[in-house]
Amino acid sequence: MRIKKTDFIKSAVVINDYPETTEIEFAFIGRSNVGKSSLINSLTNRRNLARTSKTPGRTQLINFFDVNEDFYFVDLPGYGFAKVPEAVKKNWGKIIADYLNSDREKIVFLLLDIRRVPSAEDIEMLKWLEHYSINYYIIFTKTDKLSNNQKFKQLKEIKKKLEFDNKDVFFYSALKNTGREELEEFIFDEREK
Ligand code: GDP
Repeated sequence: MRIKKTDFIKSAVVINDYPETTEIEFAFIGRSNVGKSSLINSLTNRRNLARTSKTPGRTQLINFFDVNEDFYFVDLPGYGFAKVPEAVKKNWGKIIADYLNSDREKIVFLLLDIRRVPSAEDIEMLKWLEHYSINYYIIFTKTDKLSNNQKFKQLKEIKKKLEFDNKDVFFYSALKNTGREELEEFIFDEREK
């Protein structure tokens, strides 16, 4: 394990509140329930570092975690709560856009549940990442829930909605920690570039 130590640093909404850094950082985004907290906890080997917010409409925050006292993981607020008021959605949009648009050096991981066909919001998120010229990668989550055969079929369905190359995506199961080493290695390779 190359991630030796992870600490919660702070929550922020506006750019002025982000912790300062000169290093590349790695941000995670996806619809609520995609498995983002589970993945961050699995990756950092911490049971409860990232907590799920099951309360739609509560203040949405960006959480910064320090890894090895070296660089940050950034937990962006999840999208897609069904019954969120329009004002909250708008506010969420601004929080994310500000982060994406910030001049921090970043790689964004877009999390997609491998069992689901990407939602309109997932596709919109992808467009944003492209719009802001973000260096991003897709991580398919909950891969333990499908057999290899089902995975293969599902990827074909997903590809009808969005384009990607199999070699440019990650597969992760937070339940079984599969995909962990590969993702960790990728992160450290990017960090050391
Ligand atoms: P978040 O809202 O994106 O932070 O999602 P959570 O991490 O809270 O996960 C949502 C639900 O999916 C929880 O019930 C998790 O236990 C479950 N879950 C998350 N990751 C996995 C996984 O890799 N495999 C399985 N089987 N379930 C998962």
